[in-house]
Amino acid sequence: MMFEKIALIGIGLIGSSIARAVHQHGLAGSIAISTRKAETLAEARALGLGDSYTLDSAEAVRGADLVILCVPVGAYGAVMADIAQSLRPGAILSDVGSVKEHVVKVLAPLVPKDVSLIPGHPIAGTEYSGPAAGFAELFVGRWCVLTPGPEVAPQAVAKLRGFWQAIGSKVEIMDPGHHDMVLAITSHVPHLVAYNIVGTVADLEAATQSEVIKFSASGFRDFTRIAASDPVMWRDVFLTNRDAVLEMLGRFLEDLSVLQRAVRMSDGPALEAMFTRTRAIRRSIIDAGQETAIADFGRPHGAEAPAVAEVSENSAFVARADHGGGDDA
Ligand code: NAP
Repeated sequence: MMFEKIALIGIGLIGSSIARAVHQHGLAGSIAISTRKAETLAEARALGLGDSYTLDSAEAVRGADLVILCVPVGAYGAVMADIAQSLRPGAILSDVGSVKEHVVKVLAPLVPKDVSLIPGHPIAGTEYSGPAAGFAELFVGRWCVLTPGPEVAPQAVAKLRGFWQAIGSKVEIMDPGHHDMVLAITSHVPHLVAYNIVGTVADLEAATQSEVIKFSASGFRDFTRIAASDPVMWRDVFLTNRDAVLEMLGRFLEDLSVLQRAVRMSDGPALEAMFTRTRAIRRSIIDAGQETAIADFGRPHGAEAPAVAEVSENSAFVARADHGGGDDA
């Protein structure tokens, strides 16, 4: 047991995955769960994710030696205002938000002196939301970035590092601004591109749209999985990591213009050289253990494959129905 009481504020995909992993590894004496809506709390209770349940986040954090905020980044200010006075002296306050500089800016002024603020970001996720979407193995083999300030005691950082390692993550310590720049290009801009390409299809006239859906396996389908990610969470990512996203988006658009020109000029060697470089990047991601080398992202084929209707019934476009994506925010 690493902590006496862990308080999870927010119990969606990430919060419920942490709860499941904490249970699985016996890392806490008790887990207190708090969320905004009564129906989400009831769902968490029905799933047996915690030991106590409350809509009052201040009550949840009372006596907790680890508090993890698992709500959209845009909600941090209001949540922090509710819990700040109830945090236990000596506690660690962390989070899982996809953006880090903004989080430090919002949380740090409200953190009591005797509480260690150690922002965190597990680079793991799927396109699903809510308490039922979580699973204990979500963090296994995935990175978790921690961004403590220089004032935080090394023992507190070591303790939180040990926590994430115990639930299967590899941990890296980073400066919050550097984190935001790296994630802008590895996660935020790719999501923006996916939202855009799927949005373009959504705006097509009906006849063309149905053909795109019919032939989606030719590439479009893989964008739809990312573009099915939670709208509120992603709205907040772009509102709070604006500068880094705009910087990376600028580079992306410059490179896209180069490709556009190569296509216009029928510059085969330029296109081939570019596609050869990108193939090497994918190979290095597989070598780093961050993706499967199985063809077609490991989708089942032939007899193992589920009926198409089964996969697509909840989605306007065909999306991946398994848990293994390792997609992140
Ligand atoms: P989720 O499944 O949608 O769950 C969100 C949770 O936050 C729910 O318990 C929800 O409660 C609560 N919540 C939403 N709006 C709130 C508000 N305004 N005030 C208070 N509580 C609110 O989201 P998630 O995917 O777990 O994401 C949570 C955090 O993890 C986000 O900060 C996100 O950036 C980060 N993250 C996500 C991923 C990913 O792939 N999904 C990966 C890494 C990090 P109610 O249902 O009661 O409203």
